[in-house]
Amino acid sequence: MSVSSLQPDPSMIGGISKALFALMPNPARLFKERATRFEVLAETSNLAPYLKFLAGIVRVQADLVAELPPVQPVDAEQVARARDGAMPPIDRSAMIQSDEYRKTVQLFLDRVQDLEMPAAAAEALEAVRAADDETLAWMAGNVIGDTLPVESLAHHLFVAAATQVHAARLAALLDGNALVPVSVGVCPSCGGKPAGSMVIGVQGAEGARYACCSCCATMWNEVRVKCLACGSTKGIGYRSVEVDGGEEAVIKAEICDSCNSWSKLLYQNKNPTLEMIADDVASLGLDLLMKETDYRRAGFDPFLIGY
Ligand SMILES: [Zn+2]
Ligand SMILES: [Zn+2]
Repeated sequence: MSVSSLQPDPSMIGGISKALFALMPNPARLFKERATRFEVLAETSNLAPYLKFLAGIVRVQADLVAELPPVQPVDAEQVARARDGAMPPIDRSAMIQSDEYRKTVQLFLDRVQDLEMPAAAAEALEAVRAADDETLAWMAGNVIGDTLPVESLAHHLFVAAATQVHAARLAALLDGNALVPVSVGVCPSCGGKPAGSMVIGVQGAEGARYACCSCCATMWNEVRVKCLACGSTKGIGYRSVEVDGGEEAVIKAEICDSCNSWSKLLYQNKNPTLEMIADDVASLGLDLLMKETDYRRAGFDPFLIGY
């Protein structure tokens, strides 16, 4: 028996003693890596055309990060006030009214025009580009409300993608050590909903679980067995799509019997290439499996549409 096997398994203690509360996004890397992951997943998926389209969308997000002038950080006073009141420092309602945000949306809508995309998406883009300021503001409001009208999901995808760029750039300027937990299932940077969560394999924090914000991409620490919708630690179970060869699934649904919801859990510690948003879309099979149950999906992902 080796010495290390005598140590407590970090996954059993959730890595809590070592794990930072918040991991801040690096937008320059985030969108490039996400685009690459979408491309890789498209090679073997029956969702290939859609995944390729999203890879293109995320490439445009990455280009914008490289191109836009530096964003104005959230002012220090607001950060301190938010911290005192256990509120997220990024006020998303104020954010979508800023000129910087509107410019990001406009530039994104311009750039994305050159992408090859399915006819329905191209039609939706044309409608969004023709929309007046009031309609765009309404769409931005839906995006930050984390609820999209089912009849115009394809339209909202574009506004959501532009919003992710701006929100991630703002979050990147925050000091992760100054963030405090806001409430269950709420991003401590921007107040957004998580897409799901990941068990990470980063040295020093092996086995720690992080919820991933669908808006600004901040990741925050949560204990391993806990519902991200209601906070219950009882009545939690796991479901997964059967994997060939009987191997253990690296993407599971964490289900909660207290509030009847479920959210996706990615075991990045077992497969380091997993990426929250790309693998969320590509693991649609799990969503379809869960649709047959009484559990409702709690995670929010504006890219997971049309199926
Ligand atoms: Zn966030
Ligand atoms: Zn719950």
